[in-house]
Amino acid sequence: MEERDMMHIQDSFSAEQASLFLVATPIGNLNDFTVRAVETLQDVAVIFAEDTRQSKVLLDHYAIQTPMISIHQHNEAERIDTVIKRLNQGESVALISDAGTPLISDPGARLVEAVIASNYPVITIPGPSAALTALPASGLPAEPYLFYGFLPAKAAGRKKVLQTLKTLPYTLVLYEAPHRINATIADLSASFGPRRCVIARELTKRFESYLRFTLEPTLTLPALKGEMVVLVEGAHETPLSSDDAVEHVELLMADGYTEMEAIKKAAKARKLKKNDVYMAFQHTKKERNQRK
Ligand code: SAM
Repeated sequence: MEERDMMHIQDSFSAEQASLFLVATPIGNLNDFTVRAVETLQDVAVIFAEDTRQSKVLLDHYAIQTPMISIHQHNEAERIDTVIKRLNQGESVALISDAGTPLISDPGARLVEAVIASNYPVITIPGPSAALTALPASGLPAEPYLFYGFLPAKAAGRKKVLQTLKTLPYTLVLYEAPHRINATIADLSASFGPRRCVIARELTKRFESYLRFTLEPTLTLPALKGEMVVLVEGAHETPLSSDDAVEHVELLMADGYTEMEAIKKAAKARKLKKNDVYMAFQHTKKERNQRK
């Protein structure tokens, strides 16, 4: 590790330096573990794991006998000191989370920061992550995308964040827990209007499924269990949920067009899908009726 002109340069493999390896682990299917991940976990002096009991199943499956030490939000500061001490002794260490890629909606950010500040290399051993497993098969544009992770658990915080996300023209990738999925989908529908949405569930496991639908206020989801990723189509260039597409329909109706004719004409003029304008119009009508 050198400092050149105030620039911090990490040449990961130029010298056999003690390093912190961030090792991705399977998100359900134990076979999704790379050869390099196994070799790295066998080679390091110690593995820091979020939940050592859970990770033991994986390590036993691959006959990895490296000792494990727990690291979680309650002992992180203390464990950072331990990691730096081990690196100072010339020992490489690994960080794994319960599943997937460390730091992706998982702990480790402060550890990585501390190791970089201490001038040791931080090296990712790539592998599964639920977000990038769901995105390619979702059917939504794979780029550009925005990975947000978990939305705030409380409704007020969630709505505030959705307001900042609603105009972004990127496929939005969220993590969500089953007990909040209905509330989140309802908030997405209210904030974003009619957009394509996908729930990718139990990825890489036996009951993997993709639920593809359009957000709408009357939507009722089937009961959903297990782990899930929610993906939502990005904002259109002309924001559909904004009142102007709907206003356009209303102006045309005032000119004597029927509802369907007006929707068709407005959609064509704005290069939007007829169904999307239809849904936006119905959404606005319903909202107005509710306010009455
Ligand atoms: N670090 C992990 C990663 O790289 O994907 C994410 C950890 S985060 C604590 C756990 C969340 O990831 C779950 O609540 C769910 O939203 C998502 N997730 C993890 N495994 C999944 C799976 N097999 N199928 C669908 N979503 C999954």
